[in-house]
Amino acid sequence: MKKNYNYIIQGAGASGLWLAYWMQKSGLLATSNLLIIEGDAHKSNDRTWCFWETNSGETMPFVNHNWQHITILGQKQSIAPYRYNHCRSIDFYHWIHSLLDTNANIHWLKGWADAPVVVAGGIEVTVNGDIYSGKWYFKSGDTAEKETKKTIHLWQSFVGWRVKIVSGAIDATCATLMDFSIPQNNKTRFLYVLPMSDREALIEVTQFDCEKLDKEKGQQLLTEICASRGWQTDVLELEYGAIPMSSAYDNKEPYWPLESRIIDIGVVAGALKPTTGYGFLRMMHHGKALAEALTLNTPMPKIYRKMRFRFYDRLLLNILVDYPWRGKSIFERLFARIKVTTVLKFLDEGTNFWEEMQIFCRLQVALFVKILFRYGGR
Ligand SMILES: Cc1cc2nc3c(=O)[nH]c(=O)nc-3n(C[C@H](O)[C@H](O)[C@H](O)COP(=O)(O)OP(=O)(O)OC[C@H]3O[C@@H](n4cnc5c(N)ncnc54)[C@H](O)[C@@H]3O)c2cc1C
Repeated sequence: MKKNYNYIIQGAGASGLWLAYWMQKSGLLATSNLLIIEGDAHKSNDRTWCFWETNSGETMPFVNHNWQHITILGQKQSIAPYRYNHCRSIDFYHWIHSLLDTNANIHWLKGWADAPVVVAGGIEVTVNGDIYSGKWYFKSGDTAEKETKKTIHLWQSFVGWRVKIVSGAIDATCATLMDFSIPQNNKTRFLYVLPMSDREALIEVTQFDCEKLDKEKGQQLLTEICASRGWQTDVLELEYGAIPMSSAYDNKEPYWPLESRIIDIGVVAGALKPTTGYGFLRMMHHGKALAEALTLNTPMPKIYRKMRFRFYDRLLLNILVDYPWRGKSIFERLFARIKVTTVLKFLDEGTNFWEEMQIFCRLQVALFVKILFRYGGR
């Protein structure tokens, strides 16, 4: 028998849960029902989310640590008025569940959803052989269909250890971001050291490359890094993952057509900034905007970034595809010549055109111009 819902969300990951949170908070789920479909039956602490903000205005009890100082290029610096926040995905999942589980209008279903089909009045989707219908379908998770050979494509891979520091010194008052002093191997590689105390930290290797970083190779690298820095560690947890660095998800229009009933959210909706991979806060804002649009019956917003920022990202992606080893010198020069808070503002796409020109003037102008001539704006 077909089961009917007002809203269906595919995927109980970051974007799906943020959207459900905002639907509940806006009051939509007092009178309407929601089905959340999740295929991964063992969803656990599968990743760490970090993000910087000044004050998002939201209480985020799932954030378990933040830093007001970071070390970059070996120098400790204040990032005021920003804070660099850290949360474990499991804490976020538990927090959202604790808010939603008491609402009888929210139903949770374990299973992989087939592709949803548009029908009169909404959509239908098959899960575990049963059919579910909804007026709206919010779809996260499936990145494959937008990835074509024509789009610039790199992977940002992460291999990280949450470690107990048995011996060796670590500065617990600041997070180390984008430390390029690790073997590059003709790719762009850097290290994050996020200390929770002077005895516990997340140490993570990040790589930009056309190939994903192999889990074992990443761990080998972590072993070498710990040895070279005199850290004796016990590994408490392994984090591994890869996300696309691609302009394939960029949106050229700010809204979905009025007739659309299948709405992308999360990575597939363009939530990740292609050149940094940050997107957690953007998913929060997009979920809020979607819930508002549903409440007010206005067009569904896409994650829309200004054209010039999409262009800058494509330029840098083209450089990283053609010269994978150049990331180190570009980012190092960026942080050496520009105030760190300005860099964070730029990466947040909050700078103005004049500020951006001042940034580009201090980078490898000839390289950027060469790539511009080679690819134009593509
Ligand atoms: C290891 C790692 C670390 C990261 N760190 C950061 C960070 O520090 N800061 C930051 O801003 N971003 C980070 N990101 C990027 C981004 O924020 C995350 O990838 C984020 O989880 C993406 O959210 P999402 O909702 O699009 O996808 P997900 O969180 O992956 O959620 C999608 C969910 O949908 C489910 N699903 C997929 N297809 C189906 C289907 N057909 N039927 C049912 N269920 C389905 C999946 O099982 C999954 O649970 C990181 C990513 C990774 C992989």
